[in-house]
Parts: sequence; C-alpha cells; structure tokens
Amino acid sequence: MTGYFSSPFPRRVSVGVDVGGVMVGGDAPVVVQSMTNTDTVDVDGTVAQIAALHKAGSELVRITVDRDESAAAVPRIRDRLLRLGIHVPLVGDFHYIGHKLLADHPACAEALAKYRINPGNVGFKDKKDKQFADIVEMAIRHDKPVRIGVNWGSLDQELLTRLMNENKAKGFPMTAQDVLREAIVQSAVLSARMAEEIGLGRNRIILSAKVSGVQDLIAVYAELAKRCDHALHLGLTEAGMGSKGIVASSASMGILLQQGIGDTIRISLTPEPGGDRTREVQVAQELLQTMGFRQFVPIVAACPGCGRTTSTVFQELAQTIQEDIRRNMPVWRTKYPGVEQLKVAVMGCIVNGPGESKHADIGISLPGTGETPAAPVFIDGEKAATLRGPNIAADFEKMVADYIENRFGSGARARAAE
Ligand code: SF4
Repeated sequence: MTGYFSSPFPRRVSVGVDVGGVMVGGDAPVVVQSMTNTDTVDVDGTVAQIAALHKAGSELVRITVDRDESAAAVPRIRDRLLRLGIHVPLVGDFHYIGHKLLADHPACAEALAKYRINPGNVGFKDKKDKQFADIVEMAIRHDKPVRIGVNWGSLDQELLTRLMNENKAKGFPMTAQDVLREAIVQSAVLSARMAEEIGLGRNRIILSAKVSGVQDLIAVYAELAKRCDHALHLGLTEAGMGSKGIVASSASMGILLQQGIGDTIRISLTPEPGGDRTREVQVAQELLQTMGFRQFVPIVAACPGCGRTTSTVFQELAQTIQEDIRRNMPVWRTKYPGVEQLKVAVMGCIVNGPGESKHADIGISLPGTGETPAAPVFIDGEKAATLRGPNIAADFEKMVADYIENRFGSGARARAAE
C-alpha cells in the first residue's frame, strides 16, 4: 500500500526578519498581520482599532502614513498603546512621499517597527531611484526592516513597458498576462537587490507581490519564491467583501502555504458597512489553523444540519460555543495554557453525531427528528453523560467549561504537582 500525500511541502527556506520583536520568516511560524482603516490622524480611533486587531490576534498592525499630520500622530499612537500595555509592532504604509515624511518626522521613523514601500509609486522618472534610496537609507539609519510591496495596481510602468517591448521582439512572445506577472516578480526582486546594494541587510527585507486574481497570485509567488530567499508576505489585494474575499484569499494563499511559500499573511477583506475589522484577523487565523500550521483557538466542529434536524438548537449551540471561545481566548491564553488545542463537536443527530463527537475532546450529539429527546455527551472518546430537558445547551456549555478547567487549568496543575 502506498502512503497518503496530503502533507504540506517543506517550508521554503527564507531569511528571517525581526519586526519589532516578531520574527517573520526563517524558522518562525507564519505571522498574522492586519491593517487599520482609520485616519491615522485620529489617534483615539486608530489606537482603539489597533487594540482590537491585536486582541483578536494580529501580531503586526499596519497603519497609513500619508501626510505630515499622520506621521506626527504615529509616535503618539505608539506611546498610547504602550501605556495600555499593548506591545504590537506598528508598520508604516508609505506611498509617494514616504522619503519626505520619514526625514521630516524622525519620531515617526523611530516609533515604527517596519516601513512598507511600494516601488511602483515611491517616485517617478529620475526621482524614483533617489527617493527609494532615501527610504532605504532611513531604514538603515533607524535600524528598521522594510517591506518592498509590489502591487499590480501601481506597478512600475517603465519596467512593464520595457518588458512588453522586449517580449514583442521575441520570436515566441509570452502572453501579455505572463509579461505582467514577470514584471511584478522582477519589480520585487530588482528593488530588493537595489536595497541590498544601498546597504540594507537581507535580514531586513520582506517582499510582497500582490495581485487580485487567484491564479495570478499563485503564479507570481511561486516564481518569486524560486528567485529569492527573502521572507515573503502573502496577500491577495482587493480580495473583496464577505464570502468572496474569504474564499479567494483562502484558495490562493492556502495553495501557496501548502507549497511551503509564505512567512506572513494578511487577508485584505473589505468590511461590510458597520462590519468588524477584526474579521480579517479571524479568517487569517482560521486559514492557518484549519490547514494545521498553527493553533490559535479551540476548534468547534459542527454539522451543517439537514432535513433530520427540525430545530435550530444545535446551530445556536455551535454558535454560542464558538463565540464564547473567541470572547474568552484573551484570558484563556494565559489562564489555560494549551487550550487552543481543544476540539469541540456540536452535531445535529445520531447519523454522524456520536462518531464525530468521539473524535473531539468533548462533543454532543443533539437529537434529530424522531429521535429520543436526549443528547449524549462524549468526553475523550467515551460517553460521559446524557443530557435531557430544556437546558441541554446550558448544561453542555457548563460541561465544556469544566472540561477546560480540568484539562488545562486547576486539574492540569494538580496532575503536574503529583
Ligand atoms: S449529523 Fe445528522 S443533522 Fe447533522 S448533517 Fe448529518 S444527518 Fe444531518
């Protein structure tokens, strides 16, 4: 019998980059990051959103630095966060005038843990290389890493035009799409080489090459990964809203992560009106966790429900348990070490309920249509109780809390002391 080939490829070897104490690349686990959508000048609003993103699990947070006022706000934001006990590295997102803002606001340059620059809009014509060099020199002076972030929406047009012309002259030209992909890859690699020639260490450079198409993203990063050993930031730009953004990001980044490519990820979701910005952090964590790369929160397995379920009790219970876990995780992380490994199952009937529940650490199989109104609960693969009556949901929630306390809290401490 042959083996099953479902494991991820070995992780691509990249040079690790220290971003304000968070390692990206090298042997470090894939880092989750996010970006605020507040006006950085609004210090209160930006601090609140960074705090929320960090609490949700964002290990780096990027903020827009687009004008003098926002550059001046950056050190105030950093100081306010520190006073709140929030130590999350801040990344400054610069376009067009980053060289000037960093030079005019040294406190901003110092407060940021990393500068993100886009070689496609760092300057134009004769000024381009000079302004790019100015930012790199600023990073060297302040001992900060840089993300060189190519984006096909603002691709270096001179490079693209040159590659298009060279391609036309070939006997067997590439498609226009392939030339575009090549220009994106070259822009990243050539910019990194230029930064290194100026004196920025390879361990201070992260590369990204963002596009909005799933197949383009996979193709571009697969090629970029072959041509360099820089740490790579993955992200599908303009992924979109809701399920479309989640599916497109997960499909493209999931394939790349499975190939061992990617050292940090950001899921660029467009929030729905009034939506929660932290959703992108949750999706990034769930992508990494469901693929088996990292563990952030306990997993709740729930069946989709079908015609055998006449009530929504199991859906509500699954949702309640999931929300309880998310809400409690900031405390549980320190109170219950290892709790992120917990697996809970909430199932709708006898067909798959007992089987799935036995695979979980703690699981409940609720009664389906026509079944006896009883809900067996399985703990560590064994039937531990049968719940009945109107309080099944509350009783099960209490059993989950007790299980966590016993396995990861006081019970674990007592066993360790024996
Ligand atoms: S476990 Fe039961 S209720 Fe849930 S999807 Fe399967 S058959 Fe339907």
